[in-house]
Amino acid sequence: MRVTVVGCSGSFPGPGNPASCYLVEADGFRALLDLGSGALGALQGHCSFGEVDAVLLSHLHPDHCMDLLSLYVARTYDPTRTHPAIPVHAPAGAASQLAQAYGRTQPPGLSGCFDFVEWSAGRREVGPLTVTVAPMAHPVPTWGIRVEHAGSTLAYSGDTGPTDNLVELARDADLALFESSFEQGRDDASPRDLHLTGAQAGEHASRAGVRRLVLTHLPPWNDPAVSLAAARTSYAGPVEVARPGSAYDL
Ligand SMILES: [Zn+2]
Ligand SMILES: [Zn+2]
Repeated sequence: MRVTVVGCSGSFPGPGNPASCYLVEADGFRALLDLGSGALGALQGHCSFGEVDAVLLSHLHPDHCMDLLSLYVARTYDPTRTHPAIPVHAPAGAASQLAQAYGRTQPPGLSGCFDFVEWSAGRREVGPLTVTVAPMAHPVPTWGIRVEHAGSTLAYSGDTGPTDNLVELARDADLALFESSFEQGRDDASPRDLHLTGAQAGEHASRAGVRRLVLTHLPPWNDPAVSLAAARTSYAGPVEVARPGSAYDL
């Protein structure tokens, strides 16, 4: 399984970095974990939009889902070929919310291009991938996503505040992509069920026993060195900050 960071900017795109999108490839199958603002452009540096086989959306904040509408346009109006509908695993209500965002208030919405499948807690097969999701702590319904293939495991937090569910979801993962939006001191007055600090990401990674931690979803106003130093106070394993274009072979 190969995991490529397409975009990892937290909350909104930054200069040269789209919002959240991770390309997961295994056995020739391509799935996207989130498809945030600006990500479809960068994705085309890694594969064609026609080669996407499934999309897995953690939640419906724009920095995690909005370029699904760009993918709709690209696949629907591609003059060179016809694209089959692909599954979009997403929180309940995604089909209607995203159709409304596109201006399609009447059926068929975005169907014909996307087959929306609602998340429910537990395990499912997506192509050759075994996918397990669990609810995270965030102001809108948000699912952390665990992806397993051929004995390797990726765990992706989506957006979340501190929660034991993330520890369980990421248990013994080879790679943990944990959000690290907040900075201790700067964001102490923010609601608890919103985001993690670097130290909290590291603490969750330690408790889960993950083998490698990659901090992601840093907003453009974060200093990556601050998030990294914070994570090192609570996680002793290898840790780095996600960069667009970075790839991990698990
Ligand atoms: Zn976000
Ligand atoms: Zn969010």
